[in-house]
Amino acid sequence: MEVNHVELVMSAVDPAQYPTTGYPEIALVGRSNVGKSSLTNVLINRRSYARTSSQPGKTQTLNFYNVEDQLYFVDVPGYGYAKVSKSEREKWGQMIETYLTQRDQLKGVVSLVDARHAPTEDDIQMYKYLAYFNLPTLIVATKSDKIARGKWNQAVSQIKKAMDLPNTDNIIMFSAPKKIGKDAVWNWIEQQAFG
Ligand code: GDP
Repeated sequence: MEVNHVELVMSAVDPAQYPTTGYPEIALVGRSNVGKSSLTNVLINRRSYARTSSQPGKTQTLNFYNVEDQLYFVDVPGYGYAKVSKSEREKWGQMIETYLTQRDQLKGVVSLVDARHAPTEDDIQMYKYLAYFNLPTLIVATKSDKIARGKWNQAVSQIKKAMDLPNTDNIIMFSAPKKIGKDAVWNWIEQQAFG
């Protein structure tokens, strides 16, 4: 999709605040600093639209971005903060569970992992959780420009093995600065949203 118009329409913590227009929604999840804002900016052709690196301790909200009056990207706050309190983690968990399990408009989840490392426990848990609820999931391996092309297959295998993925089709190697993987991610999103 060629995107010219995007706006942040809503920061929501509970279902009463979700948008009511009914467009399909694609959620983006990942640990903080994995490259979620960078991926979003590439997808929507902006240098810096989505907030980068939301800080631990800040109010955690689901951010709905209206893309071309056709769909919403839903930025799910990053998991894996070491510093937040237990009660804050629980609040975060509830907000996300409510959204992921009860939202009819949610058509797919883009789950980000760092291409350079084995997926973390948090990454694996998130993937299993999405699979358990039968949410169509695309794994995007970010920062792939930081590893040599010759090692990409190895990186994909490592992720696939750790997450116990049925096949490699649903992993895309991505690079924000080089825009590698942009079309493939968009193809998957359009397929899920409008399929
Ligand atoms: P977020 O916290 O998940 O939104 O992560 P950001 O998008 O803010 O990225 C965290 C850091 O990783 C920033 O310094 C980005 O410039 C860097 N980064 C993100 N994606 C890539 C990528 O594909 N390649 C490289 N080399 N750096 C990236």
